[in-house]
Amino acid sequence: MRADILSFLKKIWSRLRFVKSLRFRIFIIVVIVSYIPMVLMRYGILNNYEDRAVSLRIQELENQTMILANHLATNNYLQDTSSETINAELLQLSNLYDGRVLVIDQNYTVVKDTYGISEGKTIISEEVIRCFKGENTSHYDSDNQFIEMTTPITVSVESVEVVGSEEAIEAIANTRPGEPKTKIVGVLLNSASTDSITTNIDILDGKAYILQILLMIFVVVLSWLAAVVLVKPFEKVTSSIRAVRDGLETEALEVSDYDETEHIISAFNEILKRMRTLDKSRQEFVSNVSHELKTPITSIKVLADSLNAQEDVPVELYKEFMADIADEIERENKIINDLLSLVKMDKAAADINIESVNINEMIELILKRLRPIAEQKDIDVIYESVREVVAEVDEVKLTLAVSNLVENAIKYNEEHGYVKVTLDADHQFFTVVVEDNGIGIPEDSKEHIFERFYRVDKSHSRKIGGTGLGLSITRNAILMHRGAIGVESEEGKGTAFFIKIPLTYVSK
Ligand code: ADP
Repeated sequence: MRADILSFLKKIWSRLRFVKSLRFRIFIIVVIVSYIPMVLMRYGILNNYEDRAVSLRIQELENQTMILANHLATNNYLQDTSSETINAELLQLSNLYDGRVLVIDQNYTVVKDTYGISEGKTIISEEVIRCFKGENTSHYDSDNQFIEMTTPITVSVESVEVVGSEEAIEAIANTRPGEPKTKIVGVLLNSASTDSITTNIDILDGKAYILQILLMIFVVVLSWLAAVVLVKPFEKVTSSIRAVRDGLETEALEVSDYDETEHIISAFNEILKRMRTLDKSRQEFVSNVSHELKTPITSIKVLADSLNAQEDVPVELYKEFMADIADEIERENKIINDLLSLVKMDKAAADINIESVNINEMIELILKRLRPIAEQKDIDVIYESVREVVAEVDEVKLTLAVSNLVENAIKYNEEHGYVKVTLDADHQFFTVVVEDNGIGIPEDSKEHIFERFYRVDKSHSRKIGGTGLGLSITRNAILMHRGAIGVESEEGKGTAFFIKIPLTYVSK
């Protein structure tokens, strides 16, 4: 059951994978960014239109009702509602705005209702009371779509029927000097429909909606096109890389449409270059190894064949040839041993066996082992230790590295020459210098001597038993210790190799 659900979810996810694409994301962002302002604009404009239309309608109504209220006052309509002109005006106003007009007198009695249903009734509403206190009120009911408004009917005190009445005296007392002496004798309660405004808004909204849909279609098409165009260079990057993978493209790639694609491609080109160099050096190494391993075997075969081809070979010749064959086997053995050391050095640094080693003792042991070889050529081996050095190193690997240098200094030396090994240290590193006054290294060979199988003079080196692997092994061992190796040499004068290694091992 659970597996079923999982596989179902996986299936859905694989269908929805396009959601992860850059193209889809660009598309969605552009659509959202254009859609939101569009909607906000539509509602903003419509609301604004409604506010403005309603406030204009209120102003218009106010003007009209004020004029009407004046007419009512001057014609004493509250006392006598029979005036036909006024009644016609009232009806006209209520028809004009599809509304209703009520005329209310001081006793809150409706004296005229354009609908003709409330006459004689009493009406006490908050708006009417506030209007009698001199406040014009207007209220817009957007749900039921109408405006309700009250306007006072005012008369000047002089025109009030009983000039000496209490009301007149109070009205006079309440007016400030200079102000016309007036009195509110009634209220016009006016309601007007705003249907026409709502209809306008609906028409506008319909048009805006169609415009919005058209714009939306335009935005969707445009943003999809933009997404396709914007993502194209990245597709170009992928297809270029695929072309390299399939071997269709061998040159360095170029997709310079964006800075970003340029960065990706230049990083890829670097990796490509490194891989090609590696591949080339691997091929070279394999062909070198086979060549080097074949040489002694070819010699052995030649020696054995020539012995076989002769009859009654004297024992001396046999012995001589057999000694040569033994030499070649020894050489083959040495090459194989060196190759094994190199393979070991090439392995990950995890194989390194770090311990605290007394470097002075280590070098003394190396020299003790190599002195007999030096003596054969009457070469003086000198050791100068400036201070005691104890460092965290892999003793086996470092011994091999230093031995190779000292062996070379003896091998590529003249008779009666010297080899000097100096050990020194500061608070961070220790240095070993292996110096000789031998044949030296030509200037143009210096940069190659650390390469595998590289030998300056092949025949000479072969004669003295070189494989061309020694310095490469040394360099790898030093790099494993996060150290550095350098060389100074002058042809015919001598060579000095410098090693610098941290006293404490730093793993990566
Ligand atoms: P090899 O097994 O041939 O000695 P190496 O890798 O140890 O290989 O050295 C590479 C080449 O560098 C040697 O063939 C030799 O020509 C040159 N070389 C190394 N050390 C010295 C030295 N101390 N003096 C002169 N030449 C040297």
